[in-house]
Amino acid sequence: MKLEVKQLVKNYGKKQALKGIDMTLTEGVYGFLGPNGAGKSTFMNILTGNLKATSGQILYDGEDVTKMGKEFRGILGYMPQQQALYPNFTAEGFLAYMAALRDMKRSEAAKRIPKVLSEVGLLEVAGDKIRSFSGGMKQRLLIAQAVLAEPKILVLDEPTAGLDPKQRIAIRNLISETAAGKIVIVATHVVTDVESAANRILLIKEGEMAADSTREELCEALSGKVFELAIPQERLKDVEEDPAFLVGNISRERETLFVRVICDGEPEGYQAEPVRPGLEDVYLSCFRE
Ligand code: ADP
Ligand code: MG
Repeated sequence: MKLEVKQLVKNYGKKQALKGIDMTLTEGVYGFLGPNGAGKSTFMNILTGNLKATSGQILYDGEDVTKMGKEFRGILGYMPQQQALYPNFTAEGFLAYMAALRDMKRSEAAKRIPKVLSEVGLLEVAGDKIRSFSGGMKQRLLIAQAVLAEPKILVLDEPTAGLDPKQRIAIRNLISETAAGKIVIVATHVVTDVESAANRILLIKEGEMAADSTREELCEALSGKVFELAIPQERLKDVEEDPAFLVGNISRERETLFVRVICDGEPEGYQAEPVRPGLEDVYLSCFRE
């Protein structure tokens, strides 16, 4: 199974949202990471056939997906960023409706619905109205709808938006559990959403691919460049204003501040400990402005 994206361009009027994206995806989990406005949803809307590209191509095992039409949509599961849920539907009623929209056989739907509800931990509330659901339950129901037809390609746009830390963890685990044998693309601006689960990280910046690599390789590139400075409060301004430093996380222990910085070479004049680079550092150095 191979998904190839070739020189994909999307213009909204004069605005160039995608400036010629290339990527080749095989089975695995992909973290599609970039700040708001980078072009993630635009890309996912084109991939799922909800938006037309200005130019470029997406090929599934060598075939143009726009020509495959329904056949391609049949292997896709999509959780859009803008969620539309019907408050008066029950969880299972909503899934039955989605199954009907997808032309799924009734007998098939009857088998799949309890299974996916169980996978997302909503079986007990299957007959409850969606209006009574928390944000986390709604997100899980949207994931259930995306995996309902056992898609080969699963596209999730900001699946943890609006969730608290515990719910985020649950969604992340759910994504890992349902990922086997699929191409899973998770768009997010939250590094921790994809840090552990993604086999590959795709960084998108202003409509262009800024990186396409494993987490390990991306972190390796920052090796020897990430430090933790121990400073008194009074020196924070100096550190923040020093163009040599890209300032990350700041934590405090009594009178001392621990400031994570990225810089070329050992910081001079500071008490500095080298630390292992993480994906958060990669993100920070990519999107520094
Ligand atoms: P992301 O999902 O990464 O936040 P989007 O794909 O939503 O990014 O947006 C990419 C860029 O395209 C942004 O600058 C956004 O303002 C612009 N954009 C998105 N949708 C439209 C639209 N329908 N019309 C005009 N500009 C749009
Ligand atoms: Mg988006």
